[in-house]
Amino acid sequence: MKSRKPAAKTQRKKTSQKLPRETRNKINERQKEITELSEEAGDKEPVYFYNTLKRKKELFKPIKKGRVGIYSCGPTVYNYAHIGNLRTYIFNDILKRILLFNGYEVKHVMNITDIDDKIIKKISEEGVSLQELTHKYEKRLFENLAELNIIMPDIKPRATEHIHEMAELIKKLLQKGYAYKTDDGIYYAVSKFKKYGRLSNLKLKNLKQTARVQSDTYEKEQANDFALWKFWQERDGDISWKTDLGRGRPGWHIECSAMSMRYLGNHFDIHTGAIDLIFPHHENEIAQSEAATGKKFVNYWLHAGFLKVAEGKMSKSLGNIITLDEIKENGFKPLDYRYLCLTTHYRSELAFTLENLQNAKNSCQNMKNRVHEIKRNLDVTGIRSQNVQEYRQKFLALINDDLDMPKALALMHTLLKDDNLKNSEKYSLILDFDKVFGLQLDKEEKTAAIPEEIKKLAADREKARTAGMWQVADSLREKINSLGFSVDDTSNGPEIRKI
Ligand code: AMP
Ligand code: ZN
Repeated sequence: MKSRKPAAKTQRKKTSQKLPRETRNKINERQKEITELSEEAGDKEPVYFYNTLKRKKELFKPIKKGRVGIYSCGPTVYNYAHIGNLRTYIFNDILKRILLFNGYEVKHVMNITDIDDKIIKKISEEGVSLQELTHKYEKRLFENLAELNIIMPDIKPRATEHIHEMAELIKKLLQKGYAYKTDDGIYYAVSKFKKYGRLSNLKLKNLKQTARVQSDTYEKEQANDFALWKFWQERDGDISWKTDLGRGRPGWHIECSAMSMRYLGNHFDIHTGAIDLIFPHHENEIAQSEAATGKKFVNYWLHAGFLKVAEGKMSKSLGNIITLDEIKENGFKPLDYRYLCLTTHYRSELAFTLENLQNAKNSCQNMKNRVHEIKRNLDVTGIRSQNVQEYRQKFLALINDDLDMPKALALMHTLLKDDNLKNSEKYSLILDFDKVFGLQLDKEEKTAAIPEEIKKLAADREKARTAGMWQVADSLREKINSLGFSVDDTSNGPEIRKI
């Protein structure tokens, strides 16, 4: 015994010395992660997110065991939401569903920007009140979210109802010397915040000569002192608030710092938005919050890629927007669009075309048809086969790998075709997986009268099918699908349904 111990030690030392330093570091890092995870996460599976702040995928560790706080930048309600905005809200929803699926308790806050430069412009153009304008678009947005089966955020704070919190935060920044007053407003002095630029990886060569901007948004990747509070001017009409700071209105960036910290605390877990918000909006949020509290603001920053159309980014200001209503007018369902969003990883760009949407609609319909067929043919439930656990584990590993929904969808298609599982086993997995997909796969469509034309096509298809003319049968089925119906072959013969 005595002689063996040192030998083993030497052996171990030799092996680890052989590995390059980089590999050894990686192994150590991974071992540290595993140890920390088993200590902190308890019964939870590991979840990884790409954190913009670190520019890499990281193991997720909540601040409070088993609980997660998420803040998502919400809409500016001066127009209908477009399907680009909705892609980002679908991403938020998937993120939240994944955390819920992993057993976390989630508190999700999404703000409503109901005051900014664009809103003021639109009010004077349309001659309506601020509330008339913003409530109309806010209401429609929530209807859109419901149609897309997005779980409503737990808290939806409006900027105009949190002016007090914003003013308090600005006062703190003035006291601490991070903000200064001019004739037209109160500005954040970017050069005072040493970590400015860390999120967007800005090179801050010219930090000492920062320009000052009043406008809430700007394209240039250049550090600018930005407005925290804008003193009232004639162009603002009757839109202003009287606070200790003077009569005026808040800048855009301060609202998200004030409202996120109001509902999630000074330091919280996850902040989301699309990539256009990394700079300047999220950079400015960090600067405001961390300067005021002296604490770290957010641990994980997750950013979604753009929805693009042929001309480039879809955006209200470029005037190339498509709304969910327009999608519906073209014969699609909101959940067809949700399915399309799941086919591309959230961080990648998604090129929108009607053809892509049609493909998504077909795949989604095939999935639903198959689920209904399985549901109608449930067999006796037996003991869980090994395959069920394997599917569950694989699914969890995919969704926990920075929301890999395209691969999770592919796994679902494999499951639907897998003959090694009983229908009852498949069905319980499907219901489970759909808690994350949110495609309402189990929902039966309302029965509607079947038009004669469809019945005739289905009869022709049945004839072709029984005669072994598969291609003809398939193309007739596609025709039936394109007219908004599906046909399933059941033990009682073909069944037609409204899609
Ligand atoms: P807005 O209403 O313009 O303030 O945007 C609301 C949310 O939609 C923000 O998180 C934006 O980053 C996001 N967003 C805006 N345009 C797009 C786009 N083309 N694709 C994806 N997300 C977008
Ligand atoms: Zn925001």
